[in-house]
Amino acid sequence: MVAAPTPAEYATRVGPAILEKKLAHEMGRCIADYGLIEPGDRVMVAISGGKDSYTLLELLERARRRAPVSFELVAVHLDQGQPGYDGVPLRTWLRDNGYEHQIIREDTYQLVTERIPEGSTYCSMCSRLRRGILYNAAERLGCTKIALGHHRDDAIETLMLNMMFNGALSAMPAKLRSDDGRNTVIRPLLYSSERDIKGYAAEAGFPIIPCNLCGSQENLWRQEVKRMLDDIEHRVPKVRQSMLAALKNVHSTHLLGTHER
Ligand code: SF4
Repeated sequence: MVAAPTPAEYATRVGPAILEKKLAHEMGRCIADYGLIEPGDRVMVAISGGKDSYTLLELLERARRRAPVSFELVAVHLDQGQPGYDGVPLRTWLRDNGYEHQIIREDTYQLVTERIPEGSTYCSMCSRLRRGILYNAAERLGCTKIALGHHRDDAIETLMLNMMFNGALSAMPAKLRSDDGRNTVIRPLLYSSERDIKGYAAEAGFPIIPCNLCGSQENLWRQEVKRMLDDIEHRVPKVRQSMLAALKNVHSTHLLGTHER
């Protein structure tokens, strides 16, 4: 089997300018389809230091400069106190690129490791704490929306995981009001593939903060689902695109939920 190209090789093969144009176009469509950004919005971009959030911030900033309506961006990064964490390259990048930003330090790492038995995965508690901190920060900073870097592949993997383990047909919405009504979360990259984002990030040379500092095992089933989708993609090349389309093309009368007939 031919080895898959590295993200940098992929970006060169597609052409960096074409890749950026494609991602910007997909993001623009997603924003328009779901009304993700409105005039006067102050959008908090949650920047983890991973490829997805850097890409989101860059593309939103480029869109903001061209947009006919005015909106603001503020990047917010949470330092969770993980061992070996070094936020300097991220802070330098934000400053050098002129982004309004805030770095919040909250030692959720200690809290999680104290409360979760060793060997168990920390992720659900860690993400819950992170979400709460980001929601509070958005209010404090006067932000009307919180933008997250989830992409197409995250959404369809979540769909499969929910079907496989939770008996639920649900994925990730492009726009969601939090349960308490305080915040609106948006995901402008939902139409874009992880491969394109990886290529774009490799080309841009973002200073990535590794995501394994916490020592928690990444969700192993998510990795497995990724591999399953890769396998299917060899036989059905557009399977991921088709699954994304399925999320928009819901025939609820042909499912088993209770509804009016
Ligand atoms: S991988 Fe680590 S930092 Fe990420 S959600 Fe899980 S525990 Fe938190």
